[in-house]
This record gives sequence, structure tokens and C-alpha cells, in this order.
Amino acid sequence: MSQYRIWECQACGWLYDEEKGCPEEGLRPGTKWEDIPDDWCCPECGISKRDFQMKQVAETSEVEQMNTQNGSLPLFHSESPAGIKPLASKRTQNNDASGAPIVVIGSGMAGVNFVKSYRRHDKHTPIVVICADDGAIYSKPQLSNAYAQQKSIAALTQSSAIEFSRQYNVRLFTHTLAERVDTQAKCVLLQGGGAQPYDKLVLATGSSAITPSIEGNANHKIRALNNLSDYGQFVTEAAHVRHVTIMGAGLIGCEFADNLLRAGLGVSIVDPNPSALYSLLPHEASLSLTQSLTEAGADFHFGTTVSRIENRELGTKVILANGRRFNSDLVLSAIGVQPNIELALRSGISCQRGILANSHLATSVQDVFAIGDCAQVSMQRVAASDDASPIKDNTEQIGAVLPYVAPLLNQVKLLALNLANEIIHEKKPAHLSYPIMPIVVKTSCHPINMVLPIHTTAGHNRWAVEEQDSDGVSARLLDNKFNTIGYVLTGKYVTNERCNAYTTLIPNRD
Ligand SMILES: Cc1cc2nc3c(=O)[nH]c(=O)nc-3n(C[C@H](O)[C@H](O)[C@H](O)COP(=O)(O)OP(=O)(O)OC[C@H]3O[C@@H](n4cnc5c(N)ncnc54)[C@H](O)[C@@H]3O)c2cc1C
Repeated sequence: MSQYRIWECQACGWLYDEEKGCPEEGLRPGTKWEDIPDDWCCPECGISKRDFQMKQVAETSEVEQMNTQNGSLPLFHSESPAGIKPLASKRTQNNDASGAPIVVIGSGMAGVNFVKSYRRHDKHTPIVVICADDGAIYSKPQLSNAYAQQKSIAALTQSSAIEFSRQYNVRLFTHTLAERVDTQAKCVLLQGGGAQPYDKLVLATGSSAITPSIEGNANHKIRALNNLSDYGQFVTEAAHVRHVTIMGAGLIGCEFADNLLRAGLGVSIVDPNPSALYSLLPHEASLSLTQSLTEAGADFHFGTTVSRIENRELGTKVILANGRRFNSDLVLSAIGVQPNIELALRSGISCQRGILANSHLATSVQDVFAIGDCAQVSMQRVAASDDASPIKDNTEQIGAVLPYVAPLLNQVKLLALNLANEIIHEKKPAHLSYPIMPIVVKTSCHPINMVLPIHTTAGHNRWAVEEQDSDGVSARLLDNKFNTIGYVLTGKYVTNERCNAYTTLIPNRD
């Protein structure tokens, strides 16, 4: 057994390798997890060790062993899609794809963590990952606070596609767009003409930032920050920028604002609501966050939207629907993300907002699964034989798109276990159940930690604000029987003691 272990933060996916330590956070190489003080916080999401959010995911030797065993295999491919040859040829006329690989579409946190989880159960079944991007492995939550820390793309990249494919024994096709799934032939058709057969197919196609089309001659100045290449472009442009306008005062908009202000940029935020994070927080907490960001330098424009962006001789003018106008060098869209469901739709796989999946993560098509930001997962338990019919007619059964890391990690672990059990042991699949999953808002000027119900029933829940002053808010979310079903802590009230105390009041979701 190895002396060292690797731990993963359950809220954001950040990895701590005991062997390497984390010198930039004051942890020397070789520092064991148990020797780290209880008040130490994950550098990414700020959740403390005391909250038990870190889980052991591997022993260092386990990963190294895979690396050594497979280092010489020709696992990494980035040839043109038309050049891709099917990995397996053992297909019969009955479309029996046994012998074909598990194919994962997407190399974001869902796809990558699925592979890592699966390899813990089964080191041999062939896995193929197909992704439209360059396959660099990174933690997306870091994008919202990387700029002030002057992080480069290289610093954010945890491993390259080639390192990942060698380490986890997968074939990885980068810059390759999956165009359609032939669900009868069990084959993924690739842009440019290639085809990849599958035994099991995992859709992890993620989500895209919504970028509105705004009137005026400077629509091209609107940016989103939803992947590593967006970040690279932003860093290059920001070198010549003094002021940024952010559309949307939601989670990501507020995190960007906090970070860009810390980097010394001027920031205006435009949102149709009356205050920041308006739809998620109780009024008092929303005002508290708005006030802290304002004190940090944010210039809020509430109750309006950006209606035009004009390139003028003296710079770019942002014109709001309420008639106000100001100069700004760049406009960032943070008005939300939408699940990437086009591939599923083209393939006849049932979708609503996301790709519909049942509590086994199975979609409406046999042997096709969906995880991560693209999936709309129902918690309603289904019989194993019902895997191909997840769609029922009520909200609880239709499920929710939860575009956060914690739900994604729970999904990938369950799917990896279920597929390994089915492939190796022919066991029945287990059901997804979520633990209590805190959402950490990385606004350093006014930190927020909250737990919200997965399904909200409009009008039935109400916030009970228990403490409130200029430095923060402590509130519980109650259902119509006065049970605690969530909480929000902001500013000085974000303490481990309070998080734990409120968490114990929330009934188990299982
Ligand atoms: C700025 C920012 C900050 C965030 N902060 C937090 C946070 O603090 N905490 C938290 O819990 N969550 C946070 N999130 C959300 C979290 O990062 C996402 O939930 C998670 O990264 C989604 O991972 P994913 O793999 O599902 O999708 P993605 O990262 O979108 O990956 C999708 C993959 O699919 C590929 N793909 C798509 N379509 C195709 C196709 N047709 N063919 C081939 N490949 C395809 C893409 O190339 C990509 O590799 C944040 C998100 C953003 C944008």
C-alpha cells in the first residue's frame, strides 16, 4: 500500500496529493491529510476541512501503476475525425456491441471524473473519450477567480490530454465533434465521416454560456467565460482593458465581479432584478452581498438590461434599456448556461431542458447514459427494467438540471459503479441519491455558503432570517410545515459551526 493518498474536494473537484503537498497554500510535500489543521480551507471553493468535504479518491501508487503499465500504449489520438478507425471490431449482425468500448462524449469535469471513477473499478475495459476541445484537464470553477491570481492557462491545466489518456488507459480523440448517435447500430457518427462503435455510451456534453444578441455595432465585444479557451482569450484582451461590464448578477456574475475588482479593473453589473443573487437568496442576504460588492467598487445597474453596444471613436459605449449609458472596454455575459442537448436531440434521445435521465442515469435509449451539466436527472426510483423509459409527467420525476460540481461527482461515481458492476459482475444498478450539497459562492468580499432544495415548490417555502447585520446574514429555508430544508450563511456568519448546525437540521434526502 502507498504511503500517500490523493483527496478530492467534493464541492469543486480540487485534488490534494499528499506526496506533492500544496506549497503555495503552505502544505509541504508529504503532508498527510490528517495532519492538516481543521480550519484549513480548499483553495478553490473555500470549504474547510472541518466540513468533511474532502474524500480520498486514490493512492498515489495506484495512479502511478496505471501510468507505468500503459505508458507505451498508443492511446492518444488527435487525427482528423475521418481517420478514426473503430476501436473494436467484435460486432455481430444483431448489433451485439460486446467487445466495443465504453464511449464518453465530453472531457469536462463529468467525462474526466467518470473515467477516473470507472478505472477504480475496472482497469481493463476499453474506454474512448471524444471531445470537441483540446482535452486539457482543468477545474472549471477556478475560471471565476483565476484572473486576480494572475493564473495562466498552463497553471490552470491539471494535465494534458496525452497525460490523461496514458494515466487512465483511455483513447482520447480531441477536436472531434460527435454529430449523431446511431442508437440502432450502437455507433457514434463523427463530424467529417468517422464512426465509433460503443457498448455503453456516456453523454457528458456539458453546457454552453448563453450569450445574447445585443443591438449596435459592437456585439462582437460580448464574451463568456465558460472554458479554458474563453479564459485564454479573456486574459489576452484584459491586458488592454480598464473597465468590464458584466451582464447578470447571479452566481457567476458576482464571482467574476469580485475577482475583476480585486484585479484592479472597473466593473459595472447590469441585471433586471432588484439586487444581486436575487432569485436564490433571501432579500436581506441579497442586499448584504450587493452592499459588499458596491463597497468593493462595483457599479450596479438593477432593474434594467443592456440594450445596445456601440463602438465609438472614443471607445465602446454600453447603453441600457433605462437610458443610462457609460464607456466600457469589454462586456461579459453571465446570464446563465444552457445544457448542450443538440447531439441527443439529433439522435432521438429524449430531452427537455437537459437530456432526460432516470435515477440510474440512463436516458430514453438503452445503453446510453447522461451525466453532468447536460443531464436532467430524475430522483424518482425506477426498476432496473425501466431503464429505457425515464420520462414521467411531474416535476419530481422529470428531474432537475444541477450545473454544479457536487451533483456531477455523485452522478459519475454512481454511473461508474453501476457500469462496472454490470460489465464485470452482471449486478443490478444502484439508484442515485444526493447527500446535502452546499453551494459555495466565491465572492471574497462577502463569502456565501448555502444549501437549497433540489426541487423548489414555488410559494410553499419561506426564509426565516435568524441573524442579520451589516456584516452578513444567517437564515434557514422552511417548508410549509416549518421543517428546515435549506439555509444561507453570508459574510461573518459563514462558520463551520453554523454550517454544521444548520446541516444537521436538514432531513436526509435519500
Ligand atoms: C466560471 C464558472 C465557475 C463555476 N464555479 C463553480 C463552483 O464554484 N462550484 C460548483 O459546484 N460549480 C461551479 N461551476 C459549474 C461547474 O464548473 C460545472 O457544473 C462543471 O464544470 C460541468 O462539467 P461538465 O463536464 O458537465 O461540462 P463541460 O465542462 O461543459 O464539458 C463538456 C465537454 O463536452 C464536449 N462536447 C460537447 N458537445 C460535444 C460533441 N457534440 N462532441 C464532442 N464533444 C462535445 C466539450 O468539448 C467538453 O469537453 C462553475 C462554472 C463556471 C462556468
